[in-house]
Amino acid sequence: MKKTLIDRSGGVCELCGATENLEVLEVEPSSGKVSQSILVCNTCKEQIQKNIPMDINHWRCLNDSMWSVVPAVQVVAYRMLKRMDNQDLLGMMYLEPEVLEWADAVIDEEQEKSKPVKDSNGSTLEAGDSVTIIKDLEVKGAGFTAKRGTVVKNIGLNGIEGQIEGRVNGTRIVLLSKFLKKV
Ligand SMILES: [Zn+2]
Repeated sequence: MKKTLIDRSGGVCELCGATENLEVLEVEPSSGKVSQSILVCNTCKEQIQKNIPMDINHWRCLNDSMWSVVPAVQVVAYRMLKRMDNQDLLGMMYLEPEVLEWADAVIDEEQEKSKPVKDSNGSTLEAGDSVTIIKDLEVKGAGFTAKRGTVVKNIGLNGIEGQIEGRVNGTRIVLLSKFLKKV
């Protein structure tokens, strides 16, 4: 399986093009066929499986990989864009009807499961809200600290429990809602 996928992809992550730590990812719902799997790097895989918080900057790679001719790659790109609510790119994407059906099969399930995002006081946060950061937060990857007291306006939701996205120091980052207070 892995060898077939390496041949198909040319030995790179089919989402971001990375060449290290490549693994096979079955695109659910899958019956284990090669055509239902993609070759991904560990960084992509961990984020797809929500083992680590989503890094929006990493997923700029979808600008390219969304145009893949491999249906399984299209499905994953589509689902990740949906998770990030990136309507611009979703609007440009074209999926064959049966591929779209495959892509939506799991999204519906995820949406049903998604729970409201709560701030430190237990208030529900919604897209467009403003929040204050209640604790200095080191922003990994961006190289700065989001200071306590910073107001983040017009937040976005990424569909992951306990997370929101917002612009701090001019950079769009993911913040944990437990360190935020609704303004
Ligand atoms: Zn990757």
